[in-house]
Amino acid sequence: MGEIELPEALVKALREVRSVGVITGAGISAESGIPTYRGRGGIYDDPDEGDRTVEALSAHTLESDPDRTWRALFQIAGAAANARPNAGHLAITAIERKAARFVLLTQNVDGLHRLAGTQNIIDIHGDAFHVICTACGNRNQFNDPRTGGITSLCLNMHECMAANVAPRCPCGGVYRPDVVLFGEMLPEDKLARLYAELLDNPPDLVISVGTSAMFPYIVQPVLVAAAAGKLTIEINPEATEISDFVAFHLRTNAGEALPMIAAAMAGTEEGKG
Ligand SMILES: [Zn+2]
Repeated sequence: MGEIELPEALVKALREVRSVGVITGAGISAESGIPTYRGRGGIYDDPDEGDRTVEALSAHTLESDPDRTWRALFQIAGAAANARPNAGHLAITAIERKAARFVLLTQNVDGLHRLAGTQNIIDIHGDAFHVICTACGNRNQFNDPRTGGITSLCLNMHECMAANVAPRCPCGGVYRPDVVLFGEMLPEDKLARLYAELLDNPPDLVISVGTSAMFPYIVQPVLVAAAAGKLTIEINPEATEISDFVAFHLRTNAGEALPMIAAAMAGTEEGKG
């Protein structure tokens, strides 16, 4: 990858930025050692295994064989439990502190942005450490081994993984992961926030980081901001469908580019509080 420098025009533009939207995908987590589900080195490299994983992580398997869904989930949460936020995650938190208005839209379910201290997060695909009872609707969470934060409400992830069956609520109902499974709709409350915070009123700056999955709701905020004359940046070593539409495409990884962007922002009085 090598060292990069931000273009002078970008550094200048960043000084004027007051509101920021950041969109992240698997690329930023890959830099923390989390396998991506598609692409090089992903668990879908073996197409048969990929199909089986998609099948396990589907709404109808959760209903017919929740243990199978959970075995696939434990693989994902288990990989995340060994990962730590990287320089890219931490720089996003620094950007949030400098901005008068900030929102992070992430497709990742690994909780690394939460761990890095970012506050205003729309985790559009959910969080693999959070669960909801399918019978009574109660919410719960696994004790996140990365924070050591164990409360009486938490499920012991290691015990659940060792048992390798779906965890259950005290009411007897099966817990489901608070993630969007294949064949399920996106949560309406999170979509509403996405519209309000990114589309209706586009921020001065929108950054797309490490995402190759081009869902409409991931592409739209970038295109809407670009059309409104806002500053747009893509951070991705490879070209994607949006590369031609952003003002700046930084062909590098998140851990390298994001700290430079955070440093170039002047920060606002509101953001300094
Ligand atoms: Zn329950």
